Amino acid sequence: ADRSKIRNFSIIAHIDHGKSTLADRFLELSGLVRRDKLQKQMLDSMDLERERGITIKSHPVRLHIGDYVFNLIDTPGHVDFSYEVSRSLAACEGAILLVDATQGVEAQTVAHAYKAMEHNLAIVPVINKIDLPSADVEGTKRAMSQLLGKDDIDPVLVSAKEGIGIEELIDRLVKEIPAPNGDENAPLQALVFDSFYDTYKGVVSVVRIFNGQVRVGDRIRFWASGLESEVTEVGVFSLKMVPTESLEAGDVGYVAANIRDIREVPVGDTMTSAVRPADAPIPGFSAMKPMVFASIYPTENEDFERLRESLKKLQLNDAALVFEPESSEAFGPGFRCGFLGLLHMDIIRERLEREFDLDLILTSPNVEYHVLTRSGEYIEVRNPSQFPDFSEVELVEEPYVRGTVVVPSEYVGSVIQLCEGRRGKMLHMEYISQQRVLLEYDLPFAEIITDFYDQLKSVTRGYASFDYEHIGFKEADVDKIEVFINGKKLDALTLLAPKSEVLRVARQVASNLKHTIPKQLVEVVIQVKAGGRIVARETIKPLRKDVLAKCYGGDVSRKKKLLEKQKAGKKRMRQFNQVDIPQEAFLSVLKAD
Ligand code: GDP
Ligand code: MG
Repeated sequence: ADRSKIRNFSIIAHIDHGKSTLADRFLELSGLVRRDKLQKQMLDSMDLERERGITIKSHPVRLHIGDYVFNLIDTPGHVDFSYEVSRSLAACEGAILLVDATQGVEAQTVAHAYKAMEHNLAIVPVINKIDLPSADVEGTKRAMSQLLGKDDIDPVLVSAKEGIGIEELIDRLVKEIPAPNGDENAPLQALVFDSFYDTYKGVVSVVRIFNGQVRVGDRIRFWASGLESEVTEVGVFSLKMVPTESLEAGDVGYVAANIRDIREVPVGDTMTSAVRPADAPIPGFSAMKPMVFASIYPTENEDFERLRESLKKLQLNDAALVFEPESSEAFGPGFRCGFLGLLHMDIIRERLEREFDLDLILTSPNVEYHVLTRSGEYIEVRNPSQFPDFSEVELVEEPYVRGTVVVPSEYVGSVIQLCEGRRGKMLHMEYISQQRVLLEYDLPFAEIITDFYDQLKSVTRGYASFDYEHIGFKEADVDKIEVFINGKKLDALTLLAPKSEVLRVARQVASNLKHTIPKQLVEVVIQVKAGGRIVARETIKPLRKDVLAKCYGGDVSRKKKLLEKQKAGKKRMRQFNQVDIPQEAFLSVLKAD
């Protein structure tokens, strides 16, 4: 293809600002889909995505519009997948910065725009939803020019829904986004910015070719993993995968090479030729790392092997999911799993329950701690119950994030109060419009994964938007909190909390458990231990005999049987020390009142 006629770009936008709707307009213009055949938000392909209205995976699509070939690289909208956003942007020369005129610049707009600027992309500013009466075009334009650090910008005004302004936008993309450069005769150098598993083709790498070319039969090598293989198919995406003879410098497409394990082709890796390798990889690669950890136990021990098989199947298509078998004293065999974030965790749980029909208990999520012991040993602790004895600990570190909050000015005070209460450190605060303020905070990631979103929502009546990026580990001062049910330790409930907060958290845990564990036939005593002694205690009174009689009538043994039967039919509940512990007990354990 004539490289001067190629444009590679992404759309970056805050959630719900109209990215998928705009992508639909492009599909229509390219003739790939007719308007009457168009399903809304075509590119959001996975069922779960459609239901939740979010874009999880990047789906590039090649569009022929006029004389030009546009490779539209859609990016995931959620912060859990921001590593993939970054790699997708690295595959482009330009980006549409799309802002909803009724909402203005939001946290994700800011976070993604910064990423696009870091990658030196040509940014085409676009204001969407101008068909709506509440659209504030002038205010939105001012906020965007402040964000981009330019005095006067000339945003394209569009309505993705009504199809207004789309042709002008195409002209602007052609003019303002540079054609890709590169040398098709140089050794192959391609960025893998996504990958997925196909039953027939094996692992399919989604690539942007920067130099050289690749065709069927070539021997390729992946830089980070060192894996070598022979190419079985190359092609481009035009809704479906369409095989082509080759891919050349400037192209976006896919390469299949009979690879069976997706972990051998990490997102961000460089693909080169095994015969004539490039001098250097494409810079910026760092392995995608799980940041949130939780244990998964089947409610019935006999489902353990089925759980293992199911996790393996999910992992085929999800290199970010990690798991290893572990054994809880309380619950027996299960898996310690690592996820990118809370949404990723939720998606995996939902898929296990829905697609594999498993009944599960998921423990409260936690971050990873880096521990240096007095004997000089370095340990990565992903399960609080395995935290070494505190007398042996020299230093502990926990992960931090840099968070961006955008909020109407009247809520600034509440946001500051929330962030300070979560051990946050303010870096920056500025007005991005007359009524809206941007705040930047460094915060321990552990504070974000408890109920930060819920709290932020509630103190700002849903008007705040939030985004974050991981910035590494910093020193932490933590203590262990352990829970005893009728005198026996329930290790799956062990957690770590900052020393200064440990008493408050311990009481919270006791109270939350009291309110989520249902009354039982026996009395339930909840004791919470912190700093080596019991600091909180709650009691759940047993079901009263006369209540039982009223409910079921008949003799006691029959009543017991009835209760047991009910129990068996009840899902997401696990017995420990003769007490039924429901799933909610784990998930609500850290919630503030
Ligand atoms: P995304 O999260 O950025 O992909 O946003 P979507 O494309 O899913 O759009 C979010 C919502 O905004 C949907 O209900 C769309 O129908 C609506 N929407 C998108 N563009 C426009 C527009 O130009 N005008 C109006 N009125 N609504 C729009
Ligand atoms: Mg979308």
